Amino acid sequence: MSYPSVYLPTRGRPKRNDEVPALTTIHDLSANENAYAPLPSVLEVVRAAGERLQRYPDRFCRELTASLAERLAVPAEHIALGVGSVGLIQQFVRSAAGAGEEAPGREVAYGWPSFEAYPHLTRASGAEPVQVPLRAHTFDLDALAGAVTERTRLVFVCNPNNPTGTVVRRAELERFLDRVPERVTVVLDEAYREFVRDAEVPDGIELYRDRPNVAVLRTFSKAYGLAGLRVGYAVANEPVAAALRGQGTPFGINGLAQAAAVASLGAEAELMARVEELVKERGRLVAGLRATGWTVPETEANFLWLPLLEESEAFGAACSAVGVGVRTFPGEGVRITVGAPEANDLVLGVAARLAS
Ligand SMILES: *Cc1c(COP(=O)(O)O)cnc(C)c1O
Repeated sequence: MSYPSVYLPTRGRPKRNDEVPALTTIHDLSANENAYAPLPSVLEVVRAAGERLQRYPDRFCRELTASLAERLAVPAEHIALGVGSVGLIQQFVRSAAGAGEEAPGREVAYGWPSFEAYPHLTRASGAEPVQVPLRAHTFDLDALAGAVTERTRLVFVCNPNNPTGTVVRRAELERFLDRVPERVTVVLDEAYREFVRDAEVPDGIELYRDRPNVAVLRTFSKAYGLAGLRVGYAVANEPVAAALRGQGTPFGINGLAQAAAVASLGAEAELMARVEELVKERGRLVAGLRATGWTVPETEANFLWLPLLEESEAFGAACSAVGVGVRTFPGEGVRITVGAPEANDLVLGVAARLAS
């Protein structure tokens, strides 16, 4: 077990607080990154791939596509790769709802709050975001189906949902997919799929097979721990997959990312053992918070949500003061990534102190 002892934060860096001694360790639990350092075997492959940096990468990512096709038991033509799954979200929005004079009338619907890339990239493409409020911190699929109009081109279902960690289950999701017209593409964003332990949460790969308008979005950023290399993938039937590939940046997925992703699929057992440890830590963190009286919605991701409303900022500040960066949504809640045990203990300490 090798957790990095020091986290180098990129976002959510705790603000210096004069009342607190200088912090030597800073735990960044703000971005849902993997708590573990990269696998040595994957780093070795990346180093070797660095020997070829003067060359362009494989534009068609053939090895990675073939590895994914085999791993997921899908045809290679059903796979589209992107510069992170954020890159694919952009490709989805552009291919389904963007570009062209009619773009302003086109709608992209999803639950809210959810992943911030949805509104950002929808607006950037000239389409209209339609945000359907969550119910009990969970995607309200009946309301979402009801929000589909003639102008809807694309729907995102984030499962588990970021930032709340909640899930929609098989029966309700199938009912929803039956209601959405086939001309609307439904993206099942499964960025946290590997952390799901609820057997009633369907694997999107099963659902897409006989539904031409359903696409599955996955990433190497979270469970596989490669957020810094930027590689994600979508699985969809033709012509959706072909349209996605058509929107990709040529040579956008660099050679280091391709090599690391292939190596990570090869080291899956080792990586999933780490995921299992994080799932256990998630259980410990949620149980500990509830024991001190905090309300924590059921989470199936590598993070949890505290719906603290106007107390959110105070909670975030208290975490900062002990060297833990969390993601504060002012007036709504706090999202906390499950980190190494030491970092989670600090969160539990803050929560216990604020509760008493
Ligand atoms: C983190 C995350 C992603 C993944 O983004 P990458 O671009 O692959 O790093 C996608 N969707 C959701 C909901 C996320 O939280």
